[in-house]
Amino acid sequence: MKIGENSVVSIDYTLKGDDGTVIDTSEGRDPLSFIYGIGAIIPGLEKELDGKTAGDSFAVTIAPEDGYGQYDEARMVEVPKEQIEGADGMTEGVQVQAQREDGGIEILTVASIGEKSVTLDGNHPLAGMNLHFNVDVKDVREATKEELEHGHVH
Ligand code: ZN
Repeated sequence: MKIGENSVVSIDYTLKGDDGTVIDTSEGRDPLSFIYGIGAIIPGLEKELDGKTAGDSFAVTIAPEDGYGQYDEARMVEVPKEQIEGADGMTEGVQVQAQREDGGIEILTVASIGEKSVTLDGNHPLAGMNLHFNVDVKDVREATKEELEHGHVH
């Protein structure tokens, strides 16, 4: 069947940056499985998968606006250490979770650590990057009712 709304899609993929460095790959792991059309993967990849079937392979370059967004300086925030739990044990480059005012969870990267404050970067680590994907479509099937209700693959 063709990939469309409410398909469960399984892909093998390799993601490289502009310099050819492998950023992420499913090689050596199980294929990535997700429900198509609910925003489980980046928009550029969803667009490219539309109508494909098992056995299809393709390479695609996805610009930041269809990937993880443009890098936004405004998403760097300096937070006093006393407002951060475990601030003394932090190191640069690690990811931390923060609770947003609406109760959601945000992942932030520790950009730098000063004497009294920590600078956190709310940009996705892949923000602002061109994403070069090689994709093999391994399997396409109809999502079950339960999967659609839960919003994830069983
Ligand atoms: Zn479930």
